[in-house]
Amino acid sequence: MQIYADNAATTKMSKAAIEAMLPYMDKIYGNPSSLHSMGQEANEALTEARERMAKLLGCEAREITFTSGGSESDNQAIISAARLGERKGKKHIISTAFEHHAVLHTLNRLEKEGFEVTLLDVHENGIVTPEQVENAVREDTCLVTIMYANNEIGSVQPIKEIGGICKKHGVIFHTDAVQAAGHLHIDVREQNIDMLSLSAHKFHGPKGVGLLFARKGILLTTLIEGGAQERGKRGGTENISAIMGMAAAFEEAAANIDSRNVRLAKMRERLIEGLSEIPHSILNGDRVKRLPSNAHFCFEGIEGESLLLLLDDKGICASSGSACTSGSLEPSHVLLAIGRPHEIAHGSLRITLSEENTDDEIEYIIRSVKEVVGYLRNISPIWNDMMNGRKEFVLKG
Ligand SMILES: *Cc1c(COP(=O)(O)O)cnc(C)c1O
Repeated sequence: MQIYADNAATTKMSKAAIEAMLPYMDKIYGNPSSLHSMGQEANEALTEARERMAKLLGCEAREITFTSGGSESDNQAIISAARLGERKGKKHIISTAFEHHAVLHTLNRLEKEGFEVTLLDVHENGIVTPEQVENAVREDTCLVTIMYANNEIGSVQPIKEIGGICKKHGVIFHTDAVQAAGHLHIDVREQNIDMLSLSAHKFHGPKGVGLLFARKGILLTTLIEGGAQERGKRGGTENISAIMGMAAAFEEAAANIDSRNVRLAKMRERLIEGLSEIPHSILNGDRVKRLPSNAHFCFEGIEGESLLLLLDDKGICASSGSACTSGSLEPSHVLLAIGRPHEIAHGSLRITLSEENTDDEIEYIIRSVKEVVGYLRNISPIWNDMMNGRKEFVLKG
């Protein structure tokens, strides 16, 4: 048996997405920049895919740039806003400490160039308030970049309100919506979003493709020099089959958001209920404002890596946090940002569901996690010390 419960890392491609891709591999394989009919057929498909994505995001087709995914879109959005700000002498950027590394590392690079970055403190529930943004905005702020939903703890940010504040102050607002796209409603105009990143493989589309929405009037900086593709803002032959797969996956995901989320939230609630029975454990992220697919816990006295390996032995694919930080021994920056102490942050488990998961699987996951946590604690000398009163528990029992 194998249970996939790591959908925040990546998702299985949907049948519709795979089918939408195939013709662009073996029939309409022309280069969209070619003038002959095969090329033009591919070009028409590209135009159509752009329009379909735009319609679902509530923007115009020309405001969309296809990229290689979430990381590239985040990089391009932030660099572009920084370059625009720089020209007006504005070199201050606001973000949060729990962003994805595609955002944080890009901000680090800008800091080395002399930009000043304010990382807002995050509340314990993993949510930034509009007031915090309001208080941090300065005369020289050129960009606010705050993710829509967190990839580790699943907390959902008040995007529309934050966007409203940015609008009022004339500051560009970018949101990394990679975890939200296809899962939560998006309307860039209604939500006051100036720039938005998304990635297909997080909503059952192919890997290596995504897009950057940039409101008209925002000049993008080219990161990949080359031909005139994407209005000269991103060189390189378009990954046409992947783009077609993304459009199909996004339409499918968007069409069923509400009904799917009801079912996902029901499974998530059962998971949270079951795992909360484990003593000395804590749920991370907001209890209510969280992705319907996300359950994230810390268990005291446990090493996240050991937990994952033993769960894998039981056929359960889960994560300790983001796929990008696993493999490193540093505790997750997201858990540290919400104030979890190191010893707790190490014992984390993220379970992220999809429509394919079943109620039986949820029960199996609960049973297995209880069993493995119990086993690991039994063989842990630190746990032993805590049980014998030689060391204090951090989390209440
Ligand atoms: C996965 C992810 C990314 C990176 O997207 P890729 O397409 O894998 O480059 C960026 N931000 C968030 C929040 C993510 O979850």
